[in-house]
Amino acid sequence: MRLPADYHTHTPLCRHATGEPVELAAQAVLLGLPELGFSDHNPMPRDDFDDWRMKASQLDLYIEKVEEARRAFPALPIKIGLEVDYLPGHEDWIRELANRYPWDYLIGSVHYISAGWAIDNPTQLSEWKNRDPFEVWTAYFERLTMAAESKLFDIIGHADLCKKFCFYPKQDCTPLYARFLEAAQRNGVAMELNTAGLRKDCKEIYPSAVLVRMAREAGVPITFGSDAHAPAEVGLNLIEAMALARGAGFDQCLRFTKRQRAIVAF
Ligand SMILES: [Zn+2]
Ligand SMILES: [Zn+2]
Repeated sequence: MRLPADYHTHTPLCRHATGEPVELAAQAVLLGLPELGFSDHNPMPRDDFDDWRMKASQLDLYIEKVEEARRAFPALPIKIGLEVDYLPGHEDWIRELANRYPWDYLIGSVHYISAGWAIDNPTQLSEWKNRDPFEVWTAYFERLTMAAESKLFDIIGHADLCKKFCFYPKQDCTPLYARFLEAAQRNGVAMELNTAGLRKDCKEIYPSAVLVRMAREAGVPITFGSDAHAPAEVGLNLIEAMALARGAGFDQCLRFTKRQRAIVAF
């Protein structure tokens, strides 16, 4: 079965990934991926914001390393993007980043739901224990909806990242999903199917089958990503992600070139 493009991969510049872009590209060629996209964690206005992203001064080096991979594997289409943290108030910074380079796409992700708390950070797991899961999921999806509304992004990353550590609410979350998807549809933003969830406690692709089905019904397009933080993770479980998408009725996904979309069958 032909794999889809892998649009979510990281490099060592983010300080928690291994394998240079050339090594990830070699793996993509080995797997026969039709296209590989890099989307490393964006720099922040202040380099001391946290310790899991490139510094602002490293943006050029990031681009250079991806271009080096392009030169090494000219037959593999390689796209350059960023995974950008959406935080209310950072819109101008994100616009500035968007203008720094002719990116192929920007993935908007929510990791922080309040000042200083990234809900997926294992070193901050204790924060979950002080909070009601439904409140966290509500705050998370509110920010995700704002990210979709912002028109800053082409794709929304790992749309139910809040399930990572299995703090599931008892309440029905489908109204939260519906608001997010309505915003995504209205603003023409795609949603990614991200297989990293299979490698976490939740043992499930981001987002869940319910959300993928609702996205199909809402007319929200999709992309695929492994969220690779090492060469061996490139393309990982994308077959399962395709099966999830097909089960929800999808047979097309998006590719991006300089932020212009193309629809491709998978
Ligand atoms: Zn990461
Ligand atoms: Zn992420």
